[in-house]
Amino acid sequence: MSDTPTLPGHPHVARSGTTLQVEGVALDALAREHGTPLFVYSKQWMLDALAAYQRGFAGRDALICYAMKANSSLGVLRVFAEAGCGFDIVSGGELARVLAAGAEPGKVIFSGVGKTRAEMRQALAAGIGCFNVESEAELDVLNDVALAQGRRAPVSVRINPNVDPKTHPYISTGLKGNKFGVAHDRAVAVYRHAAALAGLQVVGIDCHIGSQITESSPYLDALDRILDLVQAIEAAGVPLHHIDFGGGLGIDYDGDTPPAADVLWKQLFARLDARGFGDRRILIEPGRSLVGNAGLCVTEVLYTKPGEEKNFCIVDAAMNDLPRPAMYQAFHRIVPVAERASLPATRYDVVGPVCESGDWLGRDRDLAVEAGDLLAVLSAGAYCMSMASNYNTRARAAEVLVSGANATLIRRRETVEDQLRTEQAL
Ligand SMILES: *Cc1c(COP(=O)(O)O)cnc(C)c1O
Repeated sequence: MSDTPTLPGHPHVARSGTTLQVEGVALDALAREHGTPLFVYSKQWMLDALAAYQRGFAGRDALICYAMKANSSLGVLRVFAEAGCGFDIVSGGELARVLAAGAEPGKVIFSGVGKTRAEMRQALAAGIGCFNVESEAELDVLNDVALAQGRRAPVSVRINPNVDPKTHPYISTGLKGNKFGVAHDRAVAVYRHAAALAGLQVVGIDCHIGSQITESSPYLDALDRILDLVQAIEAAGVPLHHIDFGGGLGIDYDGDTPPAADVLWKQLFARLDARGFGDRRILIEPGRSLVGNAGLCVTEVLYTKPGEEKNFCIVDAAMNDLPRPAMYQAFHRIVPVAERASLPATRYDVVGPVCESGDWLGRDRDLAVEAGDLLAVLSAGAYCMSMASNYNTRARAAEVLVSGANATLIRRRETVEDQLRTEQAL
């Protein structure tokens, strides 16, 4: 694809002749073979995104734990497992999924405010690397569960550093009003308590301040606040083996300019070095920044519908496939798979077939399209398929992983039989 122009911000998506391609695979052919809506992922993009973190960590003691809730498809997990990553999980289901993908249990860390006893038992039995505990009550429950199994649970406490990540309120997690983590002021007391519990082994400290963060300053502020606590907790006699700095780095959806992972980590290590923590083991939990721009969703235009105030472009993908616009008013770029030079562009709201006014994928988009054309919804690798639902008894889409000229179906399209299998009419 060297002689084909790539889309700005999407170096693995290029226009070649009358079609877009991902790496070396044409999207029109994929859509013909597998139908639409269809998620298509670039393996090379994922590995390149991972490499930016790896450059940032060169020569350091670090583990990258892919936050798998961003995209938990087995074929995607396998890419990161083969690259040596650890994983950040948030449920027992994710644990089973990531073990099925071949992850090493010792590289799995378990986050989330509402772990059940059954999930704790499952994770202890699997031998995961760390529980990121989010409340004092959870420490006590985990201690009970571990003692009952005759084990010690490795724990970090998730601290809420109370910094503003300057992102959407629904994906900001490190402010005082959020449900996540333990308040900064309580941290030393909570660590003293944890260290006194026989079923727990304190191994680290954890924070995660939000998602789609596009500036370095919230990270630098959070790091300072966490390092202050590391000093205070260790002065209280509780050694911390690692610092887990969470995920949250943003991607370019609409001209956003987040720092590159290696640039950000150069800044963070300068701060760690300056404060004498440069040798400390570092864990991170990136999700979106490893997969978000690796994926797109191909959808077919079903109807164009002119209106008095708005024109609608009705496509076969919907909020159940691409939930981010409905949930966060999020922006995805939408581009035609084949450009039509002869047709004038019309301003459309691109919407799905679901019976909700919230079912829109893009607003006020200038597109030259007709029924039957294919569109690509970009930046759809993170928090799309993993959030997909069966609302309106819509089958979840198929997924293809592209590597060079090869395309592998990593999830077949769901059928209505798949959906009815768990139900019974009396
Ligand atoms: C969601 C989440 C992440 C990943 O966030 P991204 O913005 O996708 O990088 C990391 N850690 C925790 C605890 C999370 O809940």
